[in-house]
Amino acid sequence: MTEQTATSATATTTLLAERSRAALEAFAQEQQAAYDDLRARGLSLDLTRGKPAAAQLDLSDELLTLPRGSKDAHGVDTRNYGGLEGIRELREMFAELLWVDPEEIVAGGNSSLVMMREVLVDLWLHGAVDSERPWGQEEKVTFICPVPGYDRHFTLLSWFGIDMVTVPMNDDGPDVEAVARLVADDPSIKGMWLVPTYANPTGAVTTQEVAARLAAMPTAAPDFKIFWDNAYAFHHLTENEAKSADILSLAAAAGHPHRPIMFASTSKITLAGAGVAFLAGSRDTVRWYVGHLGKGAIGPDKVNQLRHSQFFGSAQGVRDHMLKHRAIIAPKFAEVERILSERLGGLGVATWTTPTGGYFVSLDVLDGSASRVVGLAKAAGIALTPAGSSFPHGDDPRDRNIRLAPTFPPLEQVTEAMEAVATCVLLASAERLLTTA
Ligand code: PLP
Repeated sequence: MTEQTATSATATTTLLAERSRAALEAFAQEQQAAYDDLRARGLSLDLTRGKPAAAQLDLSDELLTLPRGSKDAHGVDTRNYGGLEGIRELREMFAELLWVDPEEIVAGGNSSLVMMREVLVDLWLHGAVDSERPWGQEEKVTFICPVPGYDRHFTLLSWFGIDMVTVPMNDDGPDVEAVARLVADDPSIKGMWLVPTYANPTGAVTTQEVAARLAAMPTAAPDFKIFWDNAYAFHHLTENEAKSADILSLAAAAGHPHRPIMFASTSKITLAGAGVAFLAGSRDTVRWYVGHLGKGAIGPDKVNQLRHSQFFGSAQGVRDHMLKHRAIIAPKFAEVERILSERLGGLGVATWTTPTGGYFVSLDVLDGSASRVVGLAKAAGIALTPAGSSFPHGDDPRDRNIRLAPTFPPLEQVTEAMEAVATCVLLASAERLLTTA
């Protein structure tokens, strides 16, 4: 490791692409030797999925001893059927956190992704509150997908046969000019994905200005929807805490109250497999969702909702709890940043995001080399998310994006894995420059 650091320190004097062929060949040989050493170590490390670490799950161990009693604050016996919209005290708590009214939010089961799928099914079979017909009866349905984005959003759309058109995800949110142009003329464009706060995978935060334009822009489809997936609304990594734009108010003020449908969950606040998910929207949208939900359910797991309410105590309790997560995962993100800067900085072979929240770092390597980096890493025992997975159909047209997920492994493993990733990037970059020079 010391040797590799020394190598990169001298290397930073010249961009890799500007070196002579002989210098590049020498550099490639050094990296090949470093990579061979890496392989010989027989590592087995994983930076693939954005899961909370065991230490983060431990923060919520008290949940396993709750609830105390079975009645909620309004005297509802949570053990019984009923209350499809979720218990009021938890809806009030998350309404405050998500800037909506308690009547505009539903507390559901353990997964917001399930809610997203349910909403799409409902739209497909029945249309939205402002639709002329069910989406399934349209000739074609298209979604706008900011990229890089969340792979499961894209696989969900593929499953429906929904077409996907991409726009760049910029630092201030999706490229709103591109979005506005697309939706203005094409009535098949019925919706868009957006992870507004600490986006997966770039960490971008959609600004109030961009959100206001998305809320107000004219759309050819009268029932255009923004799937506002606020999975990381409270997942700050620094003191500089981003505030999500108040999309429901913006949309209502712009005359499109039914445009946004918001999703969130406690999957990365309490227990990833046993949290509580939320859906928010206009009162009509909430009624519409709960009406369809009632065709397949008699009530949610209110006992889980009650124990969450007791565990947090208040909206401030959620904010305080998130500080404990930050203490565990911020050092891992700092380590990713340190290693990428030290090993790859100044060489012109990669750029990466430095998120102030969320679960991911987005790494862009030289065009045409992301698959090679991931392949090299795999052969050395480091699992990375497949190249292209942050794009619809797994197809990154520039083959340059790699999503890094440092939360799950312990810190020492993040260090080891990132050193290895850096070596793979350097080797793949040298190979690429030698073949394209
Ligand atoms: N939305 C985004 C953007 C995510 O990154 C994830 C998980 O990685 C989810 C939703 C999944 O949420 P849930 O656990 O509530 O289904």
